[in-house]
Amino acid sequence: MPTPSKTFRPATLLVHGGTMRSNFGETSEALFLSSGFVYDSAEQAEATFLGEVEHFQYSRFGNPTVQMLESRLAMLEGAEACRATATGMAAVSSTMLSHLKAGDRVVAARALFGSCHWIVSTLLPRYGIETVFVDGGDREAWKTALATPTQLVLLESPSNPMLDIVDLQMVADLAHAAGAIVVVDNVFATPLLQHPLKLGADVVVYSCTKHIDGQGRVLGGAVLGSKKWIEEVLQPFTRNTGPAISPFNAWLLLKGLETLALRVDASCRAAEQVARFLESRPEVVRAWYPTLESHPQRALAMQQMSAGGTLVTFDLGSKAAAFRFLNALSLVAISNNLGDSKSLITHPATTTHMRVGAEERARLGITDGAVRLSVGLEDPADLIEDLGQALDAIGLRAAAE
Ligand SMILES: *Cc1c(COP(=O)(O)O)cnc(C)c1O
Repeated sequence: MPTPSKTFRPATLLVHGGTMRSNFGETSEALFLSSGFVYDSAEQAEATFLGEVEHFQYSRFGNPTVQMLESRLAMLEGAEACRATATGMAAVSSTMLSHLKAGDRVVAARALFGSCHWIVSTLLPRYGIETVFVDGGDREAWKTALATPTQLVLLESPSNPMLDIVDLQMVADLAHAAGAIVVVDNVFATPLLQHPLKLGADVVVYSCTKHIDGQGRVLGGAVLGSKKWIEEVLQPFTRNTGPAISPFNAWLLLKGLETLALRVDASCRAAEQVARFLESRPEVVRAWYPTLESHPQRALAMQQMSAGGTLVTFDLGSKAAAFRFLNALSLVAISNNLGDSKSLITHPATTTHMRVGAEERARLGITDGAVRLSVGLEDPADLIEDLGQALDAIGLRAAAE
């Protein structure tokens, strides 16, 4: 069967992209749980190591099931090449460590996933790399930071958990002028809602643990970019340091991709409905969702993204109110994961963003009353009922105290 070309639409690529059928003619992608591969002859082994013939060698370098996932993701993203990794953080750390060396400089948007923040603030400086954080929405701050030669820019849009939007094209123009590549962590937008490579980014990274699996089963990651950068910069690093994904996890992610468009579409529609409901309630001080009229960067969000995403963040005024609310929920589960078919909620100040400290949380706009909701695939009416009764519980108990 010929590999589908890039001319297919996303929904078709999600089901067929990258499929390599074995001689058994299986309909579902085969799971090659094999660490190594055999050669027909010593000559074939030699030719493989010389790079004269294409043959799988060892699953740290490549594996047929993993390659199907990489091809499907590359077609979807419109990238020349992709390498899958064991986790999203393996994707981010491999990208940064393969591209950078001592004496280099990194500029990053401050609003980053906790572990990405740690890599920039703590790990890279240990290796003699200068790192600078900027407020992702502040054009002047980007201009000032990128007036100095820089090798890499890292950002996330929409950001976790406050859903700040960064102007990707603006940052890419400034970054390129400073000599930097732009790496976009596109997890919150998913490969369907925003295409950073078209907006000037050079590398896109994913935690496939989130929407791509989307069913809370496995960890995985992916790095996408030009064939030249992936093969010359990233690949020597990943082949020799070993952040390889298990073929089993790659297989689950391939099956996850088949339903990605259906799931993301349903969750986005539910998330917008939930956000509007939350905004209408007096217990909610403020709600953030990229397509709400009240979102300060709504115009930019709608220009860069085809929908607002599956996350809603809202402020209940205090930690006590947020905890009462979380504990009163019966359908929505308390969990720091996101992008699952089950709706999940977390209190960032005491979980995902506890370690960044109160001062940095204040800079990021993460208040003690903020909660982040990842909207799943339940009927939105059931979600709204559960959220509504938990909001009622805040009011009742607050009045009783
Ligand atoms: C989850 C996540 C990561 C890290 O991915 P893992 O698969 O947990 O290693 C990085 N960035 C963002 C935005 C995430 O949500």
